[in-house]
Amino acid sequence: NKPPLLISACLLGQPVRYDGHGKALLAPELFELTRRYQLFSICPECQGGLPTPRPAAEISGGDGGDVLDGRARVITQAGQDVSRAFIDGARQALDSAIQHGCRQALLKANSPSCGNRQIYRGHFDQQLQPGSGVTAALLQRHGINVFNENEMDGLLHPTKQQP
Ligand code: SF4
Repeated sequence: NKPPLLISACLLGQPVRYDGHGKALLAPELFELTRRYQLFSICPECQGGLPTPRPAAEISGGDGGDVLDGRARVITQAGQDVSRAFIDGARQALDSAIQHGCRQALLKANSPSCGNRQIYRGHFDQQLQPGSGVTAALLQRHGINVFNENEMDGLLHPTKQQP
C-alpha cells in the first residue's frame, strides 16, 4: 500500500532526454524511493510526440503556465514552435497522475516541461529564471505537489502535517 508517485523517466535513468541520455538519481535515492512509493514514470516531451534525441527547447515570453494559457511559446534554438507537443505531453502526464491517484510528483529540475521552480529564460544562454515548466505548471494547477531531485528530503522525510 505504498503511495503513488509520478516521476520523470530520465530520473530513473531512461535515455529520454533531448540529448538522448538519462539523468538517473543515485542508487541509494532510488532504493529509498522505491521502498516508500509506487513509481509511475512519465516523459512529457516523448509522450507529446517529440523524438529522442531532439533539439533543446526553451520557453520564450513567460513560463509553463503562460504556455498553457497561450501567452508564451516553447521554441527550439532554430525557432521551431513545439508548444503543442509540450502541452499534449503535459495533459498526458496529468492523466497519468489522475489515473494512478498521484498527489505528489518528483520531476527533473530546470526542464521546460518538468522544472518546478526554475526554467531557462528563453535565450539559450544557460540563464535560469523563476517559473515552472509546462507539465509542472499543469500538475501544480491541479493541486499536485511537485518536487525536484534536489528536494528529495521533502519526499523521503516529510515533516508531519499539522492537523
Ligand atoms: Fe526528463 Fe521531463 Fe525532459 Fe522527459 S520531459 S526527458 S521526463 S525532464
